[in-house]
Amino acid sequence: MKLLDGKKCAESLIADIAKKVAGYVDSGLRKPQMAIILVGTHAPSESYVKSKIATCALSGFESVLIRFPETVREDELLAKIAELNADQTTDGLIVQLPLPKHINPQQIINAIAPEKDIDGFHPTNFGRMTLGQKAFRPATAYGICKLLQYYEVPVKGKHCVVIGRSNIVGKPISIMLANDFDIGNATVTLTHIETPRQLLLDETRRADIVIVAVGIPGFITADMIKEGVVLIDVGINRLPDGKLVGDADFAAVADKCSWITPVPGGVGRMTVAALMINTLMAYQHNFNLV
Ligand code: NAD
Repeated sequence: MKLLDGKKCAESLIADIAKKVAGYVDSGLRKPQMAIILVGTHAPSESYVKSKIATCALSGFESVLIRFPETVREDELLAKIAELNADQTTDGLIVQLPLPKHINPQQIINAIAPEKDIDGFHPTNFGRMTLGQKAFRPATAYGICKLLQYYEVPVKGKHCVVIGRSNIVGKPISIMLANDFDIGNATVTLTHIETPRQLLLDETRRADIVIVAVGIPGFITADMIKEGVVLIDVGINRLPDGKLVGDADFAAVADKCSWITPVPGGVGRMTVAALMINTLMAYQHNFNLV
């Protein structure tokens, strides 16, 4: 079993970004800038935002955090997004999810200018990505691809089973791996909560690559996978004792895997790194650097 070390891969990608940014700044340009809108004080969101801000600093980016109380109205959020869309110094803009129940997240995502949508959630980016056109790719899915690329894990021609169909992880990674991308050309099965259990088992037991994003600790057990599988665990679950675990029973499945991502230190790190790649792309586009 070999570890797909997201921390190591992310550090290497971020070092490359920081080098490029230092060059741009030396040539007289301003630093790239990410704006983050955070509503409320949801503990996991606070921790994700903290990690994004810290990684911006490591990448040589400026970051701006804009906080709103849980009671914020949708029109107030939309007004702030419009202001940031028009702001020349903001290259990338993210609204940390989840949002309070009274706010429609799709309305909010749709209001972000596609050229600043570094999360890759706007329908324009999602559509372009699906069609194989240049786009900001959803950060977690893009991060998984970068991790597979870094460790030269073969994907082309492999049978990949994705479990979970969320718009932010399962759906985009299944499209990206099936597409004719650098890391792609796999045969992909997308499964979800309505997939009959036996069908799910039939699929996971013959899969070369399993990507699980369901949010259930211990969901993937050793009897569900074949010897030599590549297992990408996207889940981030906090146990009652405070421990952070993924969706796989790591201790039970690791020996059966050729490659496996740890939690923490796997996909989570790559999500933040991919967000930095997208921000640099937005900045380079703004300054005609590519
Ligand atoms: P979600 O929570 O929105 O939805 C869960 C998905 O799992 C649904 O599509 C559902 O159909 C599927 N599912 C639930 N039970 C199932 C079952 N028994 N069989 C098959 N499918 C089933 O999904 P999400 O937002 O992608 O989050 C999933 C997990 O990934 C969570 O733990 C979340 O915290 C984590 N996550 C991690 C990162 C990261 O950067 N590592 C990013 C996003 C989400």
